[in-house]
Formats: sequence, structure tokens, C-alpha cells
Amino acid sequence: MTTDPLLHIEGVHAAYGDTIALHDVSLDIADNEFFALLGPSGCGKTTLLRCIAGFETPQAGRIELDGRDLVGMAPHRRPVNMMFQSYALFPHLSVEKNIGYGLEADRVDRAEARRRVREVMEVVGLEELAKRRPAQLSGGQRQRVALARAIVKRPRLLLLDEPLSALDRQVRASMQLELKRLQHEVGLTFVVVTHDQEEAMSMADRIAVLRDGRLEQLATPQVLYASPASRFVAAFIGSANLLDGTAAEGGVDVPQLGVIESDGAVAAGAPATAVVRPEDVELGQDAATARLRGTVVDTYFLGGMSTVSVQLAATDSLILASVHGTTGLRRGDEVSVRFGRATAVARDEPSPVQPPASGGETAAQEVRA
Ligand code: ATP
Repeated sequence: MTTDPLLHIEGVHAAYGDTIALHDVSLDIADNEFFALLGPSGCGKTTLLRCIAGFETPQAGRIELDGRDLVGMAPHRRPVNMMFQSYALFPHLSVEKNIGYGLEADRVDRAEARRRVREVMEVVGLEELAKRRPAQLSGGQRQRVALARAIVKRPRLLLLDEPLSALDRQVRASMQLELKRLQHEVGLTFVVVTHDQEEAMSMADRIAVLRDGRLEQLATPQVLYASPASRFVAAFIGSANLLDGTAAEGGVDVPQLGVIESDGAVAAGAPATAVVRPEDVELGQDAATARLRGTVVDTYFLGGMSTVSVQLAATDSLILASVHGTTGLRRGDEVSVRFGRATAVARDEPSPVQPPASGGETAAQEVRA
């Protein structure tokens, strides 16, 4: 990062008794960035967010905002606001009173507070609902109230813990776009915790992937997808065919499949995995003469795309291929299989696999040696 970061986290270590939640985590977040903390349940995301907010105190490390150390500073003194998973709205107060509550508590001048509440209600589209109570709102509208309440205090940093988890799938998708628009419009720095990789990918400028309390990779969504630093990240971000083998000259030597040409540096002879995204798998009609072939097991129509699962003849393993639009393939068809772009990553222990994303699509396919 060329300019000074807004938030600088260095060597943070946090534990609850014998459970180590964060091991030596260091990262920087820039002003105006939409930053996501992503990882499976229990990896330490919420603990890191709570350390930034001041609800937990790390045993070691520094957390600096605008160059000022926050560790030891009370939560309400930090120029940071946190939006909780539950939204925690006051049920007996109207939308506008819920939003203005924090300003009143801070003794902001009444006229000024009223002006700011009106302004924020306009930004999040709540003007018409100002007099309603939380129970008279939909889930998406309640989420907007919680967001408005967090924004109205104009924190330097807004922390959001699984902000969309209470919403159903469709509302969630539109709120993802809205959150991103809002972040641009209000010009705040957002740090969002999520375990949903699609959500992180669609909203964040950069994503920190955490695993067992350690930072596994920090990069833009594009880099995480195209150049995962580990097998874990490859399996966690997007769909992937994971072909386990041994690093060889120019690729990964996978038993029964031969060398899969791959980018990425793993020392020759070391355990490695070739990561092939489904869109980089080409299926053809020339099964009889191809080096690799397989049998179509299933096809999933997902609207603009179809996913085809193919059982490789050589290994009995399933791989996924993405095809634009519909596919003429049917269960039982023999196809040739060619791998396009692949990335070699060091092979550590098998990664946890996320539940299917949609339409029966499996997030990661394991092809092990
Ligand atoms: P989730 O997505 O399930 O909320 P997370 O990634 O946010 O998970 P944390 O809540 O930060 O994970 O938890 C990290 C680790 O610390 C886990 O092993 C968890 O069991 C443990 N932990 C969290 N809070 C406490 C607590 N108050 N007391 C003891 N252990 C805790």
C-alpha cells in the first residue's frame, strides 16, 4: 500500500482460555476501502472485528487507526461503529428515532441531528417509513435502519458483522449491490465479516481469507480467484477442480492423468495441486482419440451458464466444466476433456469444502492422488 493505511493491524494475537482465535494477524486497510474478512465458521473473523471495535482486547499486537493505537481505548471512544448481526433495533422507537438515538446520546444539537437523520434516511431510502416501528418493517428495511443508524454518526470505520445473514437469498443479492453503492456514496471505510465467499467477492475491494486464526491470503477478489495462494483458498473461493499430484517441470503430475500444465511456483517433487476452474475445462466430441476422456454424469442449467459434471475414465473422479448457455450434452455421453489454464499450489491437508452454491453445483471437486 503506497499511502498510509487508515487501519494498521500488526501481530495481533487473541485467545479465549486455551482456544487461540487469532495467531499473529497483520494487515492494513485503506481509507474508503470496502474490505471483507472471509473464512469458515470459527476462523476468527468476529474476534478480529471485536478487537477493532474494542469489545475484545488482544493479548499482543497493535491496532492503529490514523496512526493512533486503539488497544486499551474504550469502544465508545473509538471513531469506529459496529453493526451487529441482530441489528439490535429498539422495538418501541420509530425508524427515525432509532436512527437518531446515537446522536441524542452524544448530545448533538437537535436541529443538526434532525438534519443528519433526514439526510441518511434519504441515502438508504427510508423517508417514507420514518414513523414506522421495527416490527412493521421487512427484513431488508430493518437492515437499512441498522445501517443508517451506524452511518449517521459518521465513523471513520464501519464494522459490519454478517450484515446480510438475516435476509433471504433474493433480498440479499439486491442488498449486496446496495451496500456497495452506499459505501461509495457516504465515502466511509467498511469492514464486513462474512463466511459467504460469493458475498465477499461481489462487494469487497479486497478480501482477507482467514483460516484457523491465521491470515491465509489477502488480495482482490480477482487475484484470489485467478491466483490462489493455497489449496484452501482455491477450494474456498469459487468453484474449482482440485487435481492432486506432485509438482513437475511446467505443471503438476497427477496420477493417471499425466502432467497438467500449470502456472505458479511449487518446488519440483513437492506435493502439489493443479487448480482448474470449471470455465477452463473444455469438453469435446472427439472422445475416441483424446488423451483424456470421460462420461457425462449430470448437467445443471443455471440460466446464462450450464455446469456439466464428468466422470474421468482414467481416475473415476468427477470434474466440473462450465458451458455458456445450454448444453446439448446428456447423461452418459462420452466426451473428450482438455484443461486450459491451471494454477499449481502447494498441497497441504484437504480443505473444507463449502456447501453447494446453487443448482446442484459443487464448490470444489477433489481429484486426489
Ligand atoms: P463464525 O462465522 O461462526 O461466527 P468466526 O470466524 O467469527 O466464526 P470467532 O467467533 O472469532 O470465529 O471464533 C474464533 C474461535 O474462538 C472459535 O474457535 C470460537 O469457538 C472461539 N471463541 C469465540 N468466542 C469465544 C468466547 N467468548 N469464549 C471462548 N471461545 C470463544
